Amino acid sequence: MLNVLVQLERSVMSDLKFCQGPKCHTYNTKDRIKGPQGNKTNQTRRRSSFYYGDDNFCSIACYNDWFREFGNQAIDHFGRTTQAKILTEQNGWVKRYDYRSYRQGEEDRYYSYNHITEEQRPLTQEQYEDRNYTLNIS
Ligand SMILES: [Zn+2]
Repeated sequence: MLNVLVQLERSVMSDLKFCQGPKCHTYNTKDRIKGPQGNKTNQTRRRSSFYYGDDNFCSIACYNDWFREFGNQAIDHFGRTTQAKILTEQNGWVKRYDYRSYRQGEEDRYYSYNHITEEQRPLTQEQYEDRNYTLNIS
């Protein structure tokens, strides 16, 4: 029985991930205190999911700490914006979700909306949730 519990705990723990905040372990909260009696330490938070920074940070403070330490490097690595981008008909599509149509029981709750032409085109829920799906032409 104990073996089963140990194995179960191991499999649950392996599904958990660490907060990426570089100073997470320095914040004093009860849930960060881990370890055996007499040898407790403040540790980085570990969870199955996080609310901030695309599921990488336990708090907005940890998210901000990461950006303060690595943000400029990340921007330089992936390309700093050096001139204004311009909204056009070709890149003006955004995805929208209409809560009101849900109440009325209509089908087209998800749609693409063009900021320039104000045109709307229905989306499936799958297209709405697919980060790579867009009507924009780059
Ligand atoms: Zn954190």
